[in-house]
Amino acid sequence: MFDKKYNIDDLMGFDEKYVMPTYAKKKIRFVYGDNCRLYTPCGKEFIDFSSGIGVCSVGHGNVKLAEAIAMQARDLLHLSNLYLIEPQVLLAKKIVELCGYDMQVFFSNSGAEANECAIKIARKFGERYKFKPYKIVTLQSSFHGRTLATLKATGQDEMHRHFAPLPDGFVRALDLDDIYNVIDEKTCAVMIELVMGEGGIFAQDKLKVGALAKFLKEKNVLLIIDEVQSGVYRSGEMFASNVYEITPDIISTAKGLGGGVPIGATLCGIKDVFVPGDHGSTFGGNFLSTRAGLCALEILEDEYKSFRLANNIKIFNRHLEEILKEFPSLFESKVGIGLMLGLKLRNQKFQKEVIDSAFEEGLLILKSGKDTIRFLPALNIKIDEIEEGFSRFKKACNSLRL
Ligand code: PLP
Repeated sequence: MFDKKYNIDDLMGFDEKYVMPTYAKKKIRFVYGDNCRLYTPCGKEFIDFSSGIGVCSVGHGNVKLAEAIAMQARDLLHLSNLYLIEPQVLLAKKIVELCGYDMQVFFSNSGAEANECAIKIARKFGERYKFKPYKIVTLQSSFHGRTLATLKATGQDEMHRHFAPLPDGFVRALDLDDIYNVIDEKTCAVMIELVMGEGGIFAQDKLKVGALAKFLKEKNVLLIIDEVQSGVYRSGEMFASNVYEITPDIISTAKGLGGGVPIGATLCGIKDVFVPGDHGSTFGGNFLSTRAGLCALEILEDEYKSFRLANNIKIFNRHLEEILKEFPSLFESKVGIGLMLGLKLRNQKFQKEVIDSAFEEGLLILKSGKDTIRFLPALNIKIDEIEEGFSRFKKACNSLRL
C-alpha cells in the first residue's frame, strides 16, 4: 500500500520538514515485503537480514499475522486494562509456558518501557529490607533504552550528554567480574543483557553468568535480564536465559514479540511486589498488540518445535564461517548466539563501508558497537533467502578495496 501521488524526493522533503531529525535515514522507499524480501515501488528487491532491528520475527507480510490483526481490529482494538483482555491473558500464559519460568507478566509498548517496569519492581522490592536498597548495577557498553531512567542504565556515556540531570541510583560495572566490586548493601538489582545487542553482539560467558546468578540469589539482589533483543526465540530458545540455564528474577522483552506491532513485556517471579496502582500503561497489553503477540508466538513455537529455527541457525552460522575464511583481512571473528549474530571487523573504519556496500548490492544488515556487523534476520527466514543474502554479502565484501 503506497501513495503514488508522491515520489521519493517529495517524501524525503516532507521527512526533512515535518519529522524530527533523530535518525540518519537512507534514501529508499520500501512498499512491500514478502518474508525476508523487500521491494521498492519500481520492484527493486532487497534481502532483509535486519528484520526492522529484530522486530519482524515472523517476516514481512506474514499472512497469518496480518489476518489475526485484521480480525482482532474488526472486533475490538482497545478497551483499557479496567476490563479483562482475553488475548492479553492468553499471551501471558503462553509466554510463561514457553519459557518455563514461574512468573507473571506486565505488558507495555516498547523495550525501554519493559525495562522501566523492571526498575520499578526492583526499587519497590528493595523497600522490604532494612537498608532500603535502591541501586541498580548495569554494564559498560550495555543498552537499555532511551527514556531517562533506561538511558542512565545504558552504559554508553556519549548517549548521556545533553540530558542531565538523569535519574539517580545507577552504578556502572566494567564487566561481569566487576559487578562483585561495585555491589554494596544499597544494591537492589543487577541488570544485564546476556548478549549485548548494541554493544558488539558480545555474548557473556555461561559459567560466569551462572556464578553471578547464584551469588546474587544469596545476597538477595535481584537479577534482571534485558531480553528486549535476545528474547522470543532470537537466541534459539524462548529466552537467552533458557540458553544460559539461569532463572532470573525479572526478564524484560519486546522487539520480536509482536512480529512488528509495538509491545513490551516484563516478567517477574516475585508475585507480591506490585499492587493495583503501582504501575500501568494506557495502551500496554491491548487487544491489538497482544493478539499480534499471541499469533507471532504460535508461529515461532512451530518454527522451534519443527526444528526449522535450529536449521536456520545452523545454515546461517555455516555461511558466516565461510565469510570468515574468505575475507580474513576484513573480519576477525564470528560473535553471538541463535540468529543474533555478528562479524567482528579487524578495522572499525570498514563498518560503514561494509553496510553501505551491502545496501548497494540489495542487502540490509546492521551495525553493533563500533566494530561489528550485526545480522538479525526474521526467525522464519527461508533457505533461499539466506543463500541469496550471503551471495550479495560476498559481492559487497569483494567490492571493498582493502
Ligand atoms: N534493551 C535492549 C537490549 C535493546 O536492544 C533495546 C533496543 O534496541 C532496548 C532495550 C530499547 O527498546 P525500545 O527501543 O523498544 O525502547
